[in-house]
Amino acid sequence: MHDKNYHIITYGCQMNQADSETIAGILSNRGFKTTDSIYQADLILLITCAVREHAEQRIYGKLGELMQLKNINPALVIGIGGCMPQQLEVANKLRQKFPRLDLIFGTHNLPEFETMLDRVFADREQVFEIHDIAGRITEDLPKSRIDRHKAYVNITFGCNNFCTYCIVPHVRGRERSRNPNDIINEVINLVQSGYQEVTLLGQNVNSYGLDLNRDFSFADLLKELAMLKGLSRIRFMTPHPKDISDRLIDLINKHDNICNHIHLPLQSGSSAVLRRMNRKYSKEGYLQLAQKIRDGIANCTITTDIIVGFPGESEADFADTIEVVNTVKFDAAFTFAYSKRKGTPAAGYSDQVPQMIKKQRLHRLIELVQQYMLASNQACLGQTFEVMVDGPSKKDPSILSGRTKTNKLVHFAGQYQAGDLVDLKIYRTTSFVLWGETI
Ligand code: SF4
Repeated sequence: MHDKNYHIITYGCQMNQADSETIAGILSNRGFKTTDSIYQADLILLITCAVREHAEQRIYGKLGELMQLKNINPALVIGIGGCMPQQLEVANKLRQKFPRLDLIFGTHNLPEFETMLDRVFADREQVFEIHDIAGRITEDLPKSRIDRHKAYVNITFGCNNFCTYCIVPHVRGRERSRNPNDIINEVINLVQSGYQEVTLLGQNVNSYGLDLNRDFSFADLLKELAMLKGLSRIRFMTPHPKDISDRLIDLINKHDNICNHIHLPLQSGSSAVLRRMNRKYSKEGYLQLAQKIRDGIANCTITTDIIVGFPGESEADFADTIEVVNTVKFDAAFTFAYSKRKGTPAAGYSDQVPQMIKKQRLHRLIELVQQYMLASNQACLGQTFEVMVDGPSKKDPSILSGRTKTNKLVHFAGQYQAGDLVDLKIYRTTSFVLWGETI
């Protein structure tokens, strides 16, 4: 397959990004080359997200468009993987709606991806492989990473939390932690290859190790990694508020290379709604934790996710969310209107909030969140931050962009390479971006 090109389109979270990098690694081992153009591709893969209905609709639309390419190039292979087809009902719908789809596979099928490739390309088979149970973690799959200076490293797969709105435990399976030595060796190899930053990935990173039957926690793992020479920055995604320990907070504060940014999903500020979401913390518990983080980690930014209009959310519940936002003053937040996911308990709740009310609450929340984002950015004016260069800005390639340790996006001018660490003084800001200059 040495003369073939592939094109991967990834939707959703960093876990999907990491899966796409594994698939790209397998393809590159088989001699495939990546292409930016769908017209040059012999294989197009969509790695999909099932978290929101809107994303799913977009993916159906995209697949419809791509199928037209088969009229010009009948040899073109089109496949879909990830969380969407992991739901058997959706996989069957995809098969019916797009009978010329060549490859449909689930989140647990990556170890067999190479065999599936042979079946599609050599045997011209249509392949449909959805395992409904997650297997053991396969350690030796190759990776073709997008960046050369920062990398995602999976530490857990799956989730045991079963938040009542979330499809993830149903499509990613129960929580499985990787062996600490495998993770540490992967990070050592990355550092030796010139990587400066790693982001540890898991649906609930701070419950890492609970299934390993040994005394080794997420804090232990972070500590080991923080001691590695040459690793400038460690990030992690996503911690669950119920599992953040004092030891973890201490550790982040102590080690300069563990970034002082915590993404702490709130979801709702109402204890009643949190109970119905099965989040296992209360409004008061969350507020105490946020205060501990602010007190315990120097200059730490806190970002969050918030859902409005969860079934049964009253005006008073929403007012609680507003109160938490006003108290914590989040440095940034991803905000969403609740959308039903089939197969989750909340989709069947009878007290769904009307769309119009969800929209109004979302609008009010976004306005408030943006005020705090702006205030957080304005507080940076005149200060100097170490910024890791990511490369040309996506919006304006004539300037560069990078991130502070606190995960703020900075734009600036200069001649730097991705991975360079530059001290920049902030002279201008909006809610979303800082502008800096060298000093
Ligand atoms: S913690 Fe909750 S929201 Fe996060 S992946 Fe698990 S079930 Fe979903």
